[in-house]
Amino acid sequence: MMRHDVAIVGGGCVGLSVAKHLSEQTDLDVAVLEKEHHLASHQSGRNSGVLHPGFNYPPDSKKARFATEGTARMKAYCEEHDIPCEEWGVLVVAKDDAEEARLDDLAEQAEANGVEYELLRSREAIREHEPHAEGQAALYAPEAASVDSEQYVYALAKEVKEAGVSLYTGYEVSQIEHGTDGYYLETSNGRFDVSYLVNAAGLHADTLAHQVGVGEEYQVVPFRGEYYEVRPERAGLCQTMIYPAPNPELPFLGVHYTRRTDGKVIVGPNAVLAFGREAYDNTDVNPRELFETLTYPGFRRLLSSKLMIKVAASELNKSYRKEKFTEASQRLVPDVRSEDLRKSYAGIRAQLVSEDGELVKDPLFVERDDAVHILNAVSPGLTSSLPFGEHIAETLAEKA
Ligand SMILES: Cc1cc2nc3c(=O)[nH]c(=O)nc-3n(C[C@H](O)[C@H](O)[C@H](O)COP(=O)(O)OP(=O)(O)OC[C@H]3O[C@@H](n4cnc5c(N)ncnc54)[C@H](O)[C@@H]3O)c2cc1C
Repeated sequence: MMRHDVAIVGGGCVGLSVAKHLSEQTDLDVAVLEKEHHLASHQSGRNSGVLHPGFNYPPDSKKARFATEGTARMKAYCEEHDIPCEEWGVLVVAKDDAEEARLDDLAEQAEANGVEYELLRSREAIREHEPHAEGQAALYAPEAASVDSEQYVYALAKEVKEAGVSLYTGYEVSQIEHGTDGYYLETSNGRFDVSYLVNAAGLHADTLAHQVGVGEEYQVVPFRGEYYEVRPERAGLCQTMIYPAPNPELPFLGVHYTRRTDGKVIVGPNAVLAFGREAYDNTDVNPRELFETLTYPGFRRLLSSKLMIKVAASELNKSYRKEKFTEASQRLVPDVRSEDLRKSYAGIRAQLVSEDGELVKDPLFVERDDAVHILNAVSPGLTSSLPFGEHIAETLAEKA
């Protein structure tokens, strides 16, 4: 049996950021339990790697605050720890009048959130930034950056270990029980007794929370995001980052182009229901988890909306038919051809859905006297991870 003051379940960017801030702010003996042997195996290493400076989110929202502050802090962290990070800026492109009106909304949000931006009102102005992008207007946000998220996670891990945190990799928490004096955690490598718990288990955070009666009105619905890579000889089609104007009714940003810090240009992700929480390939099925999703009343209510059915069908099509993915990619860069794209990696978003069928769009955590359960560390969770983790650490430190 192992004993620590605090167990953080999940060694993604959020769990490790909580560990970093707890080790800086308190004398607590902290352990991070991570089920994989390799860090960044899930969301924190399978994303677009973009620092979103906060123009996408309503002023005064948690997302806006964490993203704006997170962008600045991540850049400083990357500089300090020698992690690749390129401040290339992002171009959000409008294709019609309705989308152009949305750019005006984004500009207002940028203004209110203190984010730098420039509105480009012509095709020519767009092409000065991105010679192959097509649209009638665009918002250019120079503070957006591309970062190596895997290296970031490993840097956090190194830092917390040096600060005295015990990092257990290959320890899967299977059962959590609340005792009179803290928590008992059954893991794949024995039992842990701890006084305080932080649940940062990403795609599995709801399952663990439900074991101690927390967040039962929510469930994670896994949405896979698939990427294609533009062949290196055609990577000039995107110099920096090109995004579509967001649809405020949908929680995910549409298929976009990102130049990664290693120079690769990736296109994606789509957002398709995954048939398992770690079903990274579109042929992977986890029957138990799929059953859990399909029988969840919140998921069925979500699908009762006509918009969602339409979106689900279109996203499924993009997953199984490359020509549909290519069409979506051509919307922003008409010169891209199917043969320019080759299948790359996929990530799965832990999208929290409430029992009444709402997609939870803001970060959500639930407090107990001796625990914090992070149920929704939704995108831009990578960007926000430093201030968000700090906030959770402060919340827990007040209980200890
Ligand atoms: C396709 C995609 C694109 C994205 N793009 C961006 C982007 O460009 N910019 C941005 O800011 N954000 C982006 N995000 C969001 C961002 O990646 C996430 O918000 C963030 O990584 C969440 O971090 P996390 O630590 O909560 O989750 P995770 O990285 O999933 O970490 C959770 C950890 O818990 C571990 N775990 C789970 N269950 C157990 C258990 N029972 N016992 C022990 N360990 C367990 C897992 O192995 C995992 O390592 C994207 C996400 C996806 C999926």
